[in-house]
Amino acid sequence: MELNQLYGNLGLDPDVLSTGDLDVRSPIDGAVIGKVIQDAAADLETRIGRADAAFREWRNVPAPRRGDLVRLLAEELRTHREDLGRLVTLESGKILQEGTGEVQEMIDICDFAVGLSRQLYGLTIASERPGHRMMETWHPLGPVGVISAFNFPVAVWSWNFALAMVCGNPVVWKPSEKTPITALACQALFRRTCDRFGDVPEGLLEVVIGAADLGEGLVDDPRLRLISATGSCRMGREVAPRVARRLGRTLLELGGNNAMIVGPSADLDLAVRAIVFAAVGTAGQRCTSLRRLIVHEDVHEALVSRLKAAYDTIPIGNPLDPEVLVGPLIGASAFDGMQAALAAARDEGGAVHGGERVLEDRCADAYYAKPAIVEMPEQTATVREETFAPILYVMKYRDLDDAIRLHNDVPQGLSSSIFTNDLREAEAFLSASGSDCGIANVNIGPSGAEIGGAFGGEKDTGGGRESGSDAWKNYMRRATNTVNYSRDLPLAQGIEFELDS
Ligand code: NAD
Repeated sequence: MELNQLYGNLGLDPDVLSTGDLDVRSPIDGAVIGKVIQDAAADLETRIGRADAAFREWRNVPAPRRGDLVRLLAEELRTHREDLGRLVTLESGKILQEGTGEVQEMIDICDFAVGLSRQLYGLTIASERPGHRMMETWHPLGPVGVISAFNFPVAVWSWNFALAMVCGNPVVWKPSEKTPITALACQALFRRTCDRFGDVPEGLLEVVIGAADLGEGLVDDPRLRLISATGSCRMGREVAPRVARRLGRTLLELGGNNAMIVGPSADLDLAVRAIVFAAVGTAGQRCTSLRRLIVHEDVHEALVSRLKAAYDTIPIGNPLDPEVLVGPLIGASAFDGMQAALAAARDEGGAVHGGERVLEDRCADAYYAKPAIVEMPEQTATVREETFAPILYVMKYRDLDDAIRLHNDVPQGLSSSIFTNDLREAEAFLSASGSDCGIANVNIGPSGAEIGGAFGGEKDTGGGRESGSDAWKNYMRRATNTVNYSRDLPLAQGIEFELDS
């Protein structure tokens, strides 16, 4: 499909996308697919001001009515699932299945949020005082700043946006500077949604295009009551103290270093499929990508030789080609980072299988790499870092307690899994002394979460939880209310405070 036609279908003006100062290159071949207009720091004032004004109206719209707007957005996304999925592939390089899968995830979270719009429940609490009632009420929090990463250019925004909308909060969104066109497409689809809906304030969604300095502008603005930031641990370390300085709220979704333990009773057929999907899917550029494999010594050799054979047949190439399973890395620096990690792992005693650049002759300006398996003698400094590329470090264990210790001995705590048919091992892994991650799975890999659960991780991953379960509470403020319907004024804790009259 012609690029201009694709943009037109999504409501983007191709002329506007050819006049800006930010060149957007497709990682597929390095070609410029848009020249996007960047915002200046001064534009932030207008954008945040509009969102703040919108908040004053939107918070008073009943939540089920707010949900109706999200229902219409889901309809728009269903209509444009294929087009938006294709644009995700063009801009981020993930294969088409994963590009459209990302849009499906947006639809799913919208559906979830529509139901949620009638379930923003508070508790009723027994009061110790006669003739009194206590309850909790959840109110809209205020405009939310969303900062997102390149690798899930639209889904992560939608997790935040769909919930923020039903909770009564406008959003100011700074997408990754590597993927601004998909963000503008989301904005265009939301504009169409608003036109269909009718009476909505301007400023429910403000998109800010630019690099980290604009993100910092969001971070420092006290009108943005919550900063939801997705990206590297480095970014989180900069963002968190800045927001804390103004006593704002953060929701951090940062890097992972996800592992799988494979026990002696594991179903290896299943494990091989799960490992390959989790380790090479999205070319190893998912926050939940499998990066460390901790294998029992009895099955180590069998598993590693099967994995190497599987890796040798993985189709690598243009992610628009339906046969391809691994697309390009996002760019040159990602490829350089991968090569540096492989060199360091070699120095630390690792045996590297794969990892080299491929298709360079056909795509000189794109970076395709063969996914790597690295057999490590121990969990070295390089293994403990997240390298955002398809590298799978493999280590051996004898005793499950040692395996769990190794598993948890990294700074990050996002996602994890165990393959075992031994109930005791599975339950030990899920227990308080098992995996220390926000996500812990049995007999499935660490990636590809559904929207119904709370998503996020511990330690350097930042502690945030987005998407399903009760993650909506991040976007609301809680008021505890006590109502006295008696004719007396009893005080809590039995305190007597009477004036002599
Ligand atoms: P990145 O940290 O380079 O950038 C992420 C976003 O933060 C971008 O929009 C960037 O402009 C902005 N940013 C960077 N520094 C900033 C600062 N000081 N202040 C404000 N904004 C700033 O990350 P990336 O390369 O785009 O994405 C890959 C990383 O994101 C990986 O570490 C991956 O694990 C992580 N990630 C985590 C999750 C999750 O849910 N836990 C999801 C996706 C990606």
